[in-house]
Amino acid sequence: MLLTFSRLIVLLCAFFAEYCYAQKPAGDLYGEQLIHEPAYEREPIEKQPLPGGRWYRDTQAIMGTEVSIELWHKNTVHAEQAIKAVMAEMRRIDGWLGYGRTSEVTHLNQLAGSQAVKVTSELFQLIKRAIYYSEISDGAFDITFAGAGKHYDYRLGVLPNETTLVASLAAINYRHLQLNEALLTIGYAHPGVNIDLGGIAKGYAVDNAIAMLKQRGITSAIVSAGGDSRMIGDKQGKPWIVGIRSPRAAAATAQVPIAIPLSDTAISTSGDYERYFERDGVRYHHIINPKTGDSARQLQSVSIIGDKAIDTDALSTTVFVLGLEKGMALINQLKEYDAVAIDAKGNIFYSDGLAKP
Ligand code: AMP
Ligand code: MG
Repeated sequence: MLLTFSRLIVLLCAFFAEYCYAQKPAGDLYGEQLIHEPAYEREPIEKQPLPGGRWYRDTQAIMGTEVSIELWHKNTVHAEQAIKAVMAEMRRIDGWLGYGRTSEVTHLNQLAGSQAVKVTSELFQLIKRAIYYSEISDGAFDITFAGAGKHYDYRLGVLPNETTLVASLAAINYRHLQLNEALLTIGYAHPGVNIDLGGIAKGYAVDNAIAMLKQRGITSAIVSAGGDSRMIGDKQGKPWIVGIRSPRAAAATAQVPIAIPLSDTAISTSGDYERYFERDGVRYHHIINPKTGDSARQLQSVSIIGDKAIDTDALSTTVFVLGLEKGMALINQLKEYDAVAIDAKGNIFYSDGLAKP
């Protein structure tokens, strides 16, 4: 991991990145936040002189976002097989955890309010990990937020009325989740409980993808699912450059984005610009404070850097809900993570590990 390296130059990069990224419009098809080094666009990868290997790249719309993979390989057949296997894994996770009829989460939400439901050990472990983040954040990260979250539709601009919202709060509490590890069952202690793994699933998927690539002997790659990315090694001798987008690109505060050089690590960004609508000047977006059922509004964006994407994903959502003070306190306590947060006025804050020497 090049965190020490990144700590030294991240602040410099913050000032120069605006120039570096000025040529490339921020965001992609889904309004996601990570911007990859624009060199790929300037110089098509197929045309690069490539001693001993070349870059292979693919991007597909999966999990309601853009999944992209880029890897270095000597062998075209093996590279293409690896990319195919990763995309298949992303689709599997989307079907398994998503909102479709055949999803295991849908099945659980339908039945667990009235009986303990047998689940796969994979789902059990993922939910256990989600509960760990609830426990260390006093419930700021809580997959039962969906009790309120299900009443919003950000695409259609729908929000719940006060009565519906207040009624939904009783069903939001991770302690309602009754896990029996011996039997691999999960029950809901309140009939209105609904879970949604959107705050952790993409990171989990990225970690699985990285494990698959490592197993195939790949030593230089990056996989992203929306705002969650993880790298294997570096970019053939240089660090990967991951950008944090300006949450309000058109605003006067657009001195960001920030470019962070990284290798062999994960980074996740949660932002209030991913899925949102505005009503009477108020932004309603997809990250919900479980205590109120309303969108969390202290921050515009949070990025977390750490070893595994499952953790950086959960923590970016967690810190977003906790807000600047409590969120940074949590990250500074968890020594193996770093954070960059942008507050409601566009000010940028760094965790202790990234702060100016
Ligand atoms: P991310 O983009 O990783 O911050 O994840 C946002 C997603 O996390 C949302 O689309 C929801 O599916 C889910 N989510 C929203 N609020 C919470 C919360 N308080 N705890 C856990 N998951 C949440
Ligand atoms: Mg997240």
